[in-house]
Amino acid sequence: MLPSATVQPNPIPTVLVFGGHDPSGGAGIAADISTLLALGCHPIVVITAITVQNTNQLQRYELLDPALIKAQADALLEDTPIAACKTGMLGSAAIVAPVAAAVTALSGVPLVFDPVLCADRGGPLGEPDLVAALQTSLLPRATLVTPNINECRALTSTTEPDQAARELMARGCKNVLVTGTHAPTPKVVHRLYQASNEAVEMSQWPRLTGVFHGSGCTLASAVAAHLAHGESMTDAVNHALEYTWQSLRHGYRPGSGQSIPQRFWRLPKIDA
Ligand code: PLP
Repeated sequence: MLPSATVQPNPIPTVLVFGGHDPSGGAGIAADISTLLALGCHPIVVITAITVQNTNQLQRYELLDPALIKAQADALLEDTPIAACKTGMLGSAAIVAPVAAAVTALSGVPLVFDPVLCADRGGPLGEPDLVAALQTSLLPRATLVTPNINECRALTSTTEPDQAARELMARGCKNVLVTGTHAPTPKVVHRLYQASNEAVEMSQWPRLTGVFHGSGCTLASAVAAHLAHGESMTDAVNHALEYTWQSLRHGYRPGSGQSIPQRFWRLPKIDA
């Protein structure tokens, strides 16, 4: 007789991700899945788009049918208890609609909203109607939004972090983490804004040399993972910043272009 596995209820928190596929493995859902697994969560993933890119260049993207995205989300929501959600590349207003409906149905579940608008090597990752849809439909539901300076410029009237955070929170999102990765400072300074408090300057990290791809996805997924484990927002952000910096420090170049984070840096090396 074959041995039978003892089936256990899920002992680890489930995180629902909406995002696009980056075939290079640097960003998008590959980044989300590996980060969530590395941080002890079970990822469930609704794919919104397929991109054509390698570590040098984004060539194009195709958005999936919004009805297919709604069907994927509905199937998961009726089946699986969810501890946190994370959104990445959404691509168009037509896709934001079913995503916003799904996360709104999950009221009380933290939502980390990474406002993906462009590839970091240039090239848009969305249609012209995307920004307005994110502002009106997703910001009001977000527990945390994680813009860099460029994303502040697109979503608000300014790149000044305090004012950008105020404008984002005026649209209803509860917390804002303005990341310092794209600012011209010697150290990377991240600022967390919370409704009741002044801006908290989070732990600063030495700026690493090299050009990276997938740092924003890794950070946002890491915050979602720590929130799913029940941490406070400040702890989740601090732990995610450290995890992401270490992933970048251990980063590698799988191709001839940008480096990508080594998201399993905590695992021992496998000697062949
Ligand atoms: N999602 C997808 C599918 C992408 O292709 C990209 C960038 O190319 C991103 C998200 C954002 O990547 P990053 O984490 O470097 O901001």
